Amino acid sequence: MSSFQDNQRKAATYLERFAREGVKNQIAGEAVDAASGETFETMSPIDLKPLAKVARGKAEDIDRAAKAAKAAFPAWAAMNGDKRKALLHKVADAIVARAEEIALVECMDTGQAYRFMSKAALRGAENFRFFADLAPQARDGRALRAPDQLNITTRTPIGPVGIITPWNTPFMLSTWKIAPALAAGCTVVHKPAELSPLTARLLVEIAQEAGLPKGVWNLVNGLGEEAGKALTEHPAIKAIGFVGESGTGSLIMAQGARTLKRLHFELGGKNPVVVFADADLERAADAAVFMIYSLNGERCTSSSRLLVEDSIYDAFTKKVAEKAARIKIGHPLDPDTVIGPLIHPVHEKKVLSYFDIARAEGATIATGGKKADSAGGGCYVEPTLFTDANQSMRIAREEIFGPVLTAIPFKDEAEALQIANDVEYGLTAYIWTSDVTRALRFTENVEAGMIWVNSENIRHLPAPFGGVKNSGVGRDGGDWSFDFYMETKNIAIATAPHNIPKLGG
Ligand code: NAD
Repeated sequence: MSSFQDNQRKAATYLERFAREGVKNQIAGEAVDAASGETFETMSPIDLKPLAKVARGKAEDIDRAAKAAKAAFPAWAAMNGDKRKALLHKVADAIVARAEEIALVECMDTGQAYRFMSKAALRGAENFRFFADLAPQARDGRALRAPDQLNITTRTPIGPVGIITPWNTPFMLSTWKIAPALAAGCTVVHKPAELSPLTARLLVEIAQEAGLPKGVWNLVNGLGEEAGKALTEHPAIKAIGFVGESGTGSLIMAQGARTLKRLHFELGGKNPVVVFADADLERAADAAVFMIYSLNGERCTSSSRLLVEDSIYDAFTKKVAEKAARIKIGHPLDPDTVIGPLIHPVHEKKVLSYFDIARAEGATIATGGKKADSAGGGCYVEPTLFTDANQSMRIAREEIFGPVLTAIPFKDEAEALQIANDVEYGLTAYIWTSDVTRALRFTENVEAGMIWVNSENIRHLPAPFGGVKNSGVGRDGGDWSFDFYMETKNIAIATAPHNIPKLGG
């Protein structure tokens, strides 16, 4: 692992080009400014200093990008799956070759700690490899026999698609959405989050250098209500893969209605980790701490509600509070740092406001609960645990999206389930118990798209990813991604003469 000083020196080198050139859009294979010539600034949450001027794309830029994606679509869709596979593996190779640059730039743009981001680029490469290997079979279908008839299903890529991503872990999430779209044979217009646009630029460059044909992957930076909105309304764009807030998802649904967009949404969460007294409590505490305080708590799948059985509530929350208090907050490039600055002062203000809300609601701040000091004046917030909370409090219902955990006691399994389900979200749930029958019963009834038992969040790429209730619409992962990015066609062939009604003689 490289040292803090090494990381700072290298990051400065990698960022220098962004400061000099700005962040351009990529349309039909060319790096271009916004049509209006306008830019906006992206800044580092470490010291609130600007990192680069970013092209401020609007409807005209989206229109150009969508037309480029449409023009590139027939050839890309018709390309032999083995060839697409080889190209996508080349993208993965190129990501690995530039993993350090991606990680350091991502840390500076998002405030995420290097210890987590150093793996994010490699996970992004894995996403490409996984879907690359599936590309040759993406069009495969089924044979369904009927009397005197054989039905054959086949899949075809839906067309050019729009991908809209959030700011929290932008590189990894972009690869997760874009790799399956390309493997399916779709062309892409990507609109990354305006608060952390740098690694999306690196990614599109990498893809182009790896040999992706021009126009297959286009990038338009810009604000959600400008570039994002235009993308969701563009008639050439057949589907939108969106990751972000639930409220934005509902706006996109309305914006996409006129052009009948196919939509896939990965949205917010207020995920429970449910700890029964019979669990391995040491492992459960480590997992609960990891799942809320890693990635600055800016993680859709974070376990932000800690539901603990009455008999162990005090001892367990004390253990969690002690661990949280020992977590190192610091500069994201320091390899020892666990918690870096939150993305932006506006988001920091939102997270800090929940400390007042918690006090007003009568909860106890067991640890943390304030802004953390820092040399650079960045958006640092202490890892925080609220105890003496109940399910009706806002701190137990609203997505805070920071290193903030709300601990609620329960008396029995029925009450644990009732509390777990008593929110508008349903992305993930984590259950800790040594009673396998109870675990099965609980997983049957808990309202979540993804559930882990005696485990933190370990992703298996072929498994479905997505949420229920306000946490999402649809699934991706493995073949589920192809179902979204492709149309299924049925061909029925008569295998014997059948009676055709004779109308008109
Ligand atoms: P956001 O919804 O504010 O923004 C996400 C993206 O949508 C950005 O690129 C933004 O520019 C764009 N956007 C905003 N308004 C738009 C509009 N009207 N039309 C089209 N695009 C628009 O979300 P965020 O604050 O960037 O990210 C944090 C949220 O993302 C949290 O709620 C988090 O839970 C969620 N998230 C979910 C998952 C998941 O897999 N379920 C993963 C990561 C993050």
